Amino acid sequence: MYSVKTNREYDAITVEIETVKSQIDQCELRQLELDELIENLKQEIKQVETEVNDLKMNLAELEKELQEKMAVTETETHELEVERHRLISQIEKPMYATYERIRKAKNGLAVVPIIRGACGGCYQTIPPQRILELRQWKRLIVCEVCGRILVWDETLDRQETSDQKRTK
Ligand SMILES: [Zn+2]
Repeated sequence: MYSVKTNREYDAITVEIETVKSQIDQCELRQLELDELIENLKQEIKQVETEVNDLKMNLAELEKELQEKMAVTETETHELEVERHRLISQIEKPMYATYERIRKAKNGLAVVPIIRGACGGCYQTIPPQRILELRQWKRLIVCEVCGRILVWDETLDRQETSDQKRTK
């Protein structure tokens, strides 16, 4: 205070002190806000880390499951191939030749079931007379549109009936 010579000088310094005090207050407030933000972010990081860990565990489980299913599928594929060879040996040669010709022409799908009175390959409606002949196994019937061999599947017939009941 010894260097303060006039009232005016004193007032000026007082105002400056108040300004600096207010700036300190604001900075402290901002620091509190930032501390809180840091705390929130730390919590969020913890949550995200937990989620990431959970997802990693879930992924590992799914990968294991997939591996197991693939192994089963491989076994089933092998069994089906064995069964296929067994069945081929029982089919008459001309019949098998027809089947192979259609299979090659139709991307591997030579035999299709009748679904709701239509060809399961091209969805063309099959005349009821044809379906009757097929059910009685009178002869080999092929779809007139796509040329695939048609078969009758009782389970699909039942499904058809229950589907019709549902829609009615
Ligand atoms: Zn067809």
